[in-house]
Amino acid sequence: EKIDFINLYHDIIDRFSMNISEKITFKRNLPSEKFIVWVNKDKLTQVLDNVISNAIKYSPEGGTIRFGAQKQKNQLLVSIEDQGMGISQDKVEKIFERFYRADKARTRKLGGTGLGLAIAKEIIEAHDGRIWAKSKEGKGTTVLFTLPLMNQKRRDKK
Ligand code: ATP
Ligand code: MG
Repeated sequence: EKIDFINLYHDIIDRFSMNISEKITFKRNLPSEKFIVWVNKDKLTQVLDNVISNAIKYSPEGGTIRFGAQKQKNQLLVSIEDQGMGISQDKVEKIFERFYRADKARTRKLGGTGLGLAIAKEIIEAHDGRIWAKSKEGKGTTVLFTLPLMNQKRRDKK
């Protein structure tokens, strides 16, 4: 279905902000324009739910999570940045593999199956997007993904 990504993103962030502890701060850097994408809304919600819950799960007390979205050519670029423990360079690509958990000792007590990001990758790629992460150990992690934007100008041109 055709949806405005920014509107969905705000709704999901709002839902999380009602439940997070006061020790984590959310900052939104989102444009006021509409970013129309053709997606399965439930699946895209599943992607955001997992990436945002990871960011919360791995955030320290007093941490800030930054939500971004911008247009990049004909793509939408979404970013979710945390100030958590981070992931080492050699492991950051592996987090999208099934059942992969970067730090067995630390992540075990935080729960989860290690499937969330593998599912997110499947969903994003099924929508012709890409998903990846950038991380610095001890500084934090940013998960980014793209989705094709629907071209709304096409109609005006003819
Ligand atoms: P599930 O999502 O199935 O409940 P999970 O969160 O452990 O379990 P994924 O979401 O697939 O699984 O993440 C895989 C692993 O990547 C995590 O176990 C963790 O080690 C690492 N990881 C993911 N996001 C972050 C993050 N924001 N900061 C640090 N490590 C992360
Ligand atoms: Mg997860």
